[in-house]
Amino acid sequence: MNIAFVSSEVVPFSKTGGLADVAGALPVEVAKLGHDVKVFTPKYGTIDEQKYGLEYQGWIGEMPVRVSGIDHPTHVHKSIIPDSEVEVYFIDFPPYFFRDKIYTDDFDEADRFILFSKGTLEIIQRLSWKPDVIHCNDWQTGLLPLFVKDNYNWNKLFHHTATLYTIHNIGYQGRFGKETLGKAEVKEGYFINFGEVEHNGAVNFMKAALSFADIINTVSETYAKEILTQEYSSGMDHILNYRSQDLYGILNGVDYNAWNPESDEYLPHHYSKKNLAGKLKNKEFLCKQFNLPFHPNIPLIGIISRLAVQKGFDLIARSLDYLSHLPCQYVILGSGEDYYEDMFRTFASYRPEKAASYIGYNNELAHLIEAGADMFLMPSHYEPCGLNQIYSLKYGTVPIVRKTGGLADTVKDWDERRSMGLDDGNGFSFHDYNGFALTDAVERAINCYSNQDVWNKIISNGMQCDFTWQHSAEKYIELYQKAIGKVK
Ligand code: ADP
Repeated sequence: MNIAFVSSEVVPFSKTGGLADVAGALPVEVAKLGHDVKVFTPKYGTIDEQKYGLEYQGWIGEMPVRVSGIDHPTHVHKSIIPDSEVEVYFIDFPPYFFRDKIYTDDFDEADRFILFSKGTLEIIQRLSWKPDVIHCNDWQTGLLPLFVKDNYNWNKLFHHTATLYTIHNIGYQGRFGKETLGKAEVKEGYFINFGEVEHNGAVNFMKAALSFADIINTVSETYAKEILTQEYSSGMDHILNYRSQDLYGILNGVDYNAWNPESDEYLPHHYSKKNLAGKLKNKEFLCKQFNLPFHPNIPLIGIISRLAVQKGFDLIARSLDYLSHLPCQYVILGSGEDYYEDMFRTFASYRPEKAASYIGYNNELAHLIEAGADMFLMPSHYEPCGLNQIYSLKYGTVPIVRKTGGLADTVKDWDERRSMGLDDGNGFSFHDYNGFALTDAVERAINCYSNQDVWNKIISNGMQCDFTWQHSAEKYIELYQKAIGKVK
């Protein structure tokens, strides 16, 4: 199969979140399974061209891409995803992509990603490469399935091209004013009330994709079910229920080259499932780094997160007093909303023997916390997939999570599994979104921690879980085939 993978961020070139990780890993795994995958992404000013060996594609030269009736002179560069043969094509139009940030609140945000979507199809035409599937991701590529079916339908190259659209987070939809129709050259007919691209009076890029993509998926099976409900769909439940026969969930994989306690370059002490001695030493090192008293027998609970309501910090806020009286310590790494940054700063300054925090983004510390903490707390309100709980399992850091989205698909509650006569639990989870349910799960974890045999079993169950990309890639190939089946 020929697969075009279109993403507004790709590791290692650009990243704001999990989408970039998927875009840097999944195409490589799909290629390993014998398919021709090409990746398409914008050339942001922040990308280090020298480091990543971007090559200008002189043979394409100036490539006009029409937005708002103007042919914008774009250019194309090419590189590969490191340690692979997967080609990455960069769409270069400095007035749009040479900005401080990948995503902006600027007046022309819609224009930027219209140009990206159309530019991708323009490059594909110049390559004379017939894609069997165009795999689109998140709102930035939301208009692409419509362009394939309509604006670019004149070109035979796309006559049998199927589209797959992946939702990485339904909270971000790309909503713009009606004038966007003209900018993108999208027919007014799609903008009638409840039309294909209309939602609450706005042009909605994600809705366009949900209307026109042949197959839709999201990044965990549970999230695929949740987004059919009003509570989790951010207004997309009608169209998703209409398309429910074409909606799937595939859990993301993780990169165990970067996240493995046996080889992690950031850890002072490596360890494995068979020999956990290094884990305790990492805990001691972590406590020193954070100026926390080191207690080998008191559980240390880690948090690494964007500090946003989505991640359940309102629940923690409500329960903080109670949590601060439990026999455990906390180490928090995060940045985001001021309220929660202040909350954790204050907690750490009032209870320095109990809690420490680092407000900011720090990848090295993230690795150290995963290794040094005994438990990892992630009480998300919603979680499309989630990475940290998966890393935690591999690091023997028992996750305590809310049972939602990808958290529900990766963490099995120890007590719940015991009540079913099974001893394969790898963490603790709670369902109801309230402080009592949260603190109950934390207390259950703390109680188990004091029983060495039980705790070691939970750790061991987690460390043997395997969420490699290969498994997910095989499932994506099945979806590509389903999508192709729909356009035949
Ligand atoms: P989301 O993409 O919704 O933020 P995920 O759990 O899918 O949540 O992925 C978050 C990623 O970002 C993880 O790799 C996590 O380690 C990392 N991360 C989040 N906050 C920080 C931070 N303050 N410092 C370092 N890494 C962070």
